Parts: sequence; structure tokens; C-alpha cells
Amino acid sequence: MTLLSDYLRLTTAFGDLGEPFSTPQLATPLPSPYLIAVSPDMLSLCQIPPSCAGSADFTELFSGNQSPASCQPRATVYSGHQFGVWAGQLGDGRALTLGQAGGLEVQLKGAGPTPYSRGGDGRAVLRSSVREFLCSEAMAGLGIPGTRALCLTGSDKLVMREQPETTAVVTRVAPSFVRFGSFEHWYYNNDENRLKQLADFVISQYYPELRTHANPYAALLHEVSERTAHLMAQWQSVGFMHGVMNTDNMSILGLTLDYGPFGFMEAYNPHHICNHSDQQGRYSYAMQPGIGQWNCHALGQALLPLIGSVEETQAALSDYQNAYQTRQTALWQAKLGLRSQLRTDAGLIASMLSMMQANQLDFTIFFRRLGEIHTNDTSMDHLLRDLCADRALFDHWLNQYRMRLQAESSIDAQRRAAMHACNPKYVLRNYLAQRAIEAAQQKDYSEIELCRRILAHPFDEQAEYDTYAALPPDWGRAISVSCSS
Ligand code: AMP
Ligand code: MG
Repeated sequence: MTLLSDYLRLTTAFGDLGEPFSTPQLATPLPSPYLIAVSPDMLSLCQIPPSCAGSADFTELFSGNQSPASCQPRATVYSGHQFGVWAGQLGDGRALTLGQAGGLEVQLKGAGPTPYSRGGDGRAVLRSSVREFLCSEAMAGLGIPGTRALCLTGSDKLVMREQPETTAVVTRVAPSFVRFGSFEHWYYNNDENRLKQLADFVISQYYPELRTHANPYAALLHEVSERTAHLMAQWQSVGFMHGVMNTDNMSILGLTLDYGPFGFMEAYNPHHICNHSDQQGRYSYAMQPGIGQWNCHALGQALLPLIGSVEETQAALSDYQNAYQTRQTALWQAKLGLRSQLRTDAGLIASMLSMMQANQLDFTIFFRRLGEIHTNDTSMDHLLRDLCADRALFDHWLNQYRMRLQAESSIDAQRRAAMHACNPKYVLRNYLAQRAIEAAQQKDYSEIELCRRILAHPFDEQAEYDTYAALPPDWGRAISVSCSS
């Protein structure tokens, strides 16, 4: 443990706030843990030498089996609204913050029960952990803010879900894991002192420029709303669906947080629900931007006692829609390879989306191939046309698009390069994750590593991995992902 503990600061600024914000809790060891995957990027960001990653100490530390002597892992309390309903106290039921590396908090997910487990076993299954590990790294590759994953360890220990499954531990990393629900917790407990302590902590650590603002708490709410709006625009732009946008899964830093039954849009349908447990479709693709705003309002409610007035709270929230629209417009312009912005573009985009829905076009493939279309000839049209059942509708839209490109004298090669730099070729499709999971369940971890490497560079052609950019096979379309993890 001597070697690794050199790289891990054993306390965090948040941990220093002490109880009752978080509680010391040792991890519960797993039988014979093994290393499944590592992110080289994260080793580097955490300033851990790559040579450490193969060591027994590394596996022991990041499975929760052994901690450096003075290590005091902590579990954090928070509350939240789940599916729109106040759920009361939740907290890190299976997460433990180990310390800090490279200035980032390092957290084990699945390392055993905590005071906040509420009867749960404190474990995470291999299936959901592979998904979290891969998606964390895929989102980073896409340039979308999110928590990261340093490594994945596993054990043959079985836990019960719908059926017995083996366990794993994801080591995730972020500047902070504070959630909207962390604030709601103190608000609904009528503890204004702790609410203020938490807000002051977040401002001084992560938003120091807001300290001199006339009302720093209103400024915090404004900033978090803006980040959240931008995050929603980024999710929509790559077809990412989170699946469980409860306020306890919303990061105060505007990060994608808590990867569960997420999905990437395949056959375009704005009402797609990626989470099998979400029967009402509260968290469907089309709902996400509005839910992001709803969640910011829940945060606003919690910060109200600090902000001081309803008017100032509402004012801090009032820019959300504008921030979302502005970022969304810019992202769609870029996806379409348009250099200028015209008033008529909104109509072009709306008709594109309804054409995509009518043709059940694969979201990722559509935009990637759109970059291949030529302004002045139809030689590449077949790349998209062949995917369409309603070709007349497609031709009609493409004609509009082509006229739009001609109007700004768009240059094919330039536009293609720009579009390929923002329309990914590779996303973590459910079937890719599922293949990696099934191989891992047979102790073959090569598919996880290959997916990680491909998804780290989603905009690169990587022609040798074309099959990872293909439409899902029939079995892959039918995968249903639930909250069970
Ligand atoms: P999630 O849906 O993963 O965001 O989890 C919602 C809440 O349930 C959080 O407080 C988690 O810590 C807790 N939780 C989820 N799974 C478990 C588990 N297996 N054991 C204990 N707590 C859990
Ligand atoms: Mg959660």
C-alpha cells in the first residue's frame, strides 16, 4: 500500500466538512478480487503511474479490500426527488469516497453497505458496472462533461438481482459528487445552517468567482442552471438518454452522473424511453431538456432560504430555456455543417427530425453519413436514401438541405471534416455494451478494452472497427435496460 498511497490523498475537501455531511465507512472486502479494466487517461489525470495498475495493491485498493492505514473512506448523505416525487433521504448506499488523486475525488461504487444503504446490499453487479465504466469513458470521448472511471474490478461473489449475478466495483472520479439532492436534503430537514455550509463549500471550491457576487447563492443557481441547460443540449445532440434524471442524480457541476439504464438513440423516436422501469416516459429523450429545468427548479426551491426571495430565485432560473436553445441551435447547426444561422433553419431541422422518425433512421448513422453528401451532385445520396422506407420524404428533405448548403456556398471537403468532428461514428450502443458484458461474464475482458479504446475516439474513422458503428442486430434492438443494477 505504500506505493499507491503516495498518489492518493486520503482526505477530500468535502470529507473535511465532516459529519453529518458524510460518515466514515470502511469498504467490505470481496473474495479474491481481480482487475477487469483500466482507463489509461484516468491513470494519467489521477497522476498514478501506469506501472501501478498491474499491481496487487491496485486491485486490492480499488476493490475496497485493503486501504492505506490512515484511509478513512466516507459515504455521503443526500436526498432527492425520484420520478417527480419527494423520496426523502437516500445517500451513498453503495459508494465510498476514498480520497483524492490529481485533485479529483476518487470513489468506489459497489464496495459494500453504508449507513445509507436502506436495506440494499451495497453492491453493484458486473453488468451495470461494465456499462458505467464504458459510458463514462465514451462520454469523455464525445466531449460531454461527466464523471470518469479509473478502473473496474470484479469478484466471483454472487448477489441477487432478478437472478444471481457477479459483483464488480467501478472506481469513479470527479471534482465533486455533490448533487442537487445534497442541497434538498438540508432544505427539507429545515437545517439552514448546513444548507449554507454546503453552499459556501461548493462556491468556494468550485465556483470561487461567484464569491464576490451581490447574491452568491442566486449566482450559484444561475450558473448551475446554465451548465445543466448546456449539458441537456449536449445529450440531445448525440442522442444520449440518461434514463433516471432524479434530482439525486443531478450534479452540482453539470456533469453526467450515475450511469444506469442509459441509452443512445438508435431508430429515431423522440418519445423513446431507454429505462424499462420508466413506465410513464418521464425521462424519455424529448422530455430531458424540460426535466433538466424541472430539476433546476427543485434546486432553486432548496436554495430559496439562502437566496432570500422568490423573485431572485426565479430570476436565477429564468435563463435556462434561453441557454438551452442557444446551445442546442449551435450544436444542430454544427451537426448539419451549416456555417451561418438563418431563421428558416429551425424549420429545416424540424422537418429533418420528422423525416428521421418516419424512416426510423438510426440517429448516429444518419448524421455521420449526412457529412458525406455532396452539395452539387447526388452521387452520395444513396448512403442515406437506401436506409429510408419513405424515399419521397427523404428526397424532399434532402432537396431543402441541399438548397440551404448551396445558399452558403458550402464546400464539401470542409463541411465533411467539420461534420465528422461533431457527429460521432461510434457511440456505446446497448448491443456493444451487452457483448462486452457477456464476454466479461465468461472472464474475457478483451471486448471491454476494445470498446473503451474505440469509444475514446468516437469521431475518428477507425475503419478497422467499422462493425462497431453498424446498426444493431435484431437481438440488440430488443435489449431492455431497467434500474436493476
Ligand atoms: P441509483 O438509482 O443507482 O441512482 O440509486 C438510487 C439510490 O439507491 C442511491 O441512494 C443508491 O446509493 C441506492 N442504491 C442503489 N443500489 C443499491 C444497492 N445495491 N445497495 C445499497 N444502496 C443502493
Ligand atoms: Mg444515483
